[in-house]
Amino acid sequence: MEFKQGDWVRIEKNGTVYEGKVMPSMEGYITIKMKSGYNAGFSMDKVRITFLENNEGNANRVRNSCRECRPVKEELSEPGKKLPKIAILSTGGTIASKIDYRTGAVTSQFTADDILAAIPELREIADFKGRVISSILSENMDSESWQNLARAVVEEIEAGADGVIVTHGTDTMMYTAAALSFMIETPVPIVLVGSQRSADRPSSDNAMNAICAALVAISDIAEVSVVMHGTSSDNFCEIHRGTKVRKMHTSRRDAFKSVNSFPIGIVGYSTREIETYIEYTGRGEKSLKFKPGMEPKCALVKFTPGADPAVLDYYIGKGYKGLVLEGTGLGHVSTKWIPLIQKATDAKIPVISTSQCLNGRICDRVYDTGRDMIKAGSIEGEDILPETALVKLMWVLGQTSEFDTAVKMLREDISGEITACTQK
Ligand code: ASP
Repeated sequence: MEFKQGDWVRIEKNGTVYEGKVMPSMEGYITIKMKSGYNAGFSMDKVRITFLENNEGNANRVRNSCRECRPVKEELSEPGKKLPKIAILSTGGTIASKIDYRTGAVTSQFTADDILAAIPELREIADFKGRVISSILSENMDSESWQNLARAVVEEIEAGADGVIVTHGTDTMMYTAAALSFMIETPVPIVLVGSQRSADRPSSDNAMNAICAALVAISDIAEVSVVMHGTSSDNFCEIHRGTKVRKMHTSRRDAFKSVNSFPIGIVGYSTREIETYIEYTGRGEKSLKFKPGMEPKCALVKFTPGADPAVLDYYIGKGYKGLVLEGTGLGHVSTKWIPLIQKATDAKIPVISTSQCLNGRICDRVYDTGRDMIKAGSIEGEDILPETALVKLMWVLGQTSEFDTAVKMLREDISGEITACTQK
């Protein structure tokens, strides 16, 4: 086959036709960029490739209508194979985005089916069903969106899915992961995946992350997890527990890290093998339970030196039902804030203390400030992440309006968010 980088080719695989420009490819593989903006990679021995036009002829072709280069047949699974059934729910974010050349900005434009059609290797892993939940950037998610998404995930599991993948913007993925972790007890894997770089960029992480997510979705790990690049290379993805994960970098592909925990494990991109590091809930160990309900009037307040305690008074006055404080090292806030913690407690508003350090455990018993916070009613968040604490608080207050029950639930580990302290 005579073609070189930049040439336009047609690729046929299992009755589906793809057209695109040849991109730099690994040995034995061909990667093309389709007009939809998505890159698709194929194993050369599994496809028929027809040369269409050389590099120079592309300019005309690229100006043509976009529709012609979409796969002509969009079946989502290879017929005849008994593969696990996976539901892929798309919510938006960079994994579903490309550059809009009108505005120059990246916008969410792809659906779950587009993602499936653009990454043909997925069909070797499972039998997919695509469903669009939303097409938004994740900064636009809220507690209502988490509940709608959770409901859709539960419906797919009830309908027989062996695993569910949620494609999601990376910026608030950890909040959604935590929300699903609290709302759903699951017998099958629920995997959140995104990408840091849109599909039309050569360094896009979308295909590798999606393939690794699919491998986790068919695995034994029946938990809510986040699967994203483990390093800046294309070697493996990490599998993070949904309540212990945080986006720690604005742009690196390996931005997601487990905090106060090892990742559950890793998935090799080329080996396609999963190695686990910590105990996890296995497939079928739990039966499906859906516990929706989120109190949106909760806030995460970051303490800074000299910050005016009136900030807390604002939330109390505005009828907020719960507060998370992100305090200094062990979880402290200034002495001037303590009467406001007492005021919140007296008004039956739970206050949880967490730390700006993220790593490590809250201990408000070492210094007098901490002891005074506890006396005023503040609940030590142990080693919970501030964002997870906020989502847990919203969920707990969506389950009960009883203050003492809420405080008890906030102190307990419900979904892997608090690691037991062995040194107390
Ligand atoms: N702003 C985007 C989002 O969270 C970023 C991304 O997906 O990586 O939806």
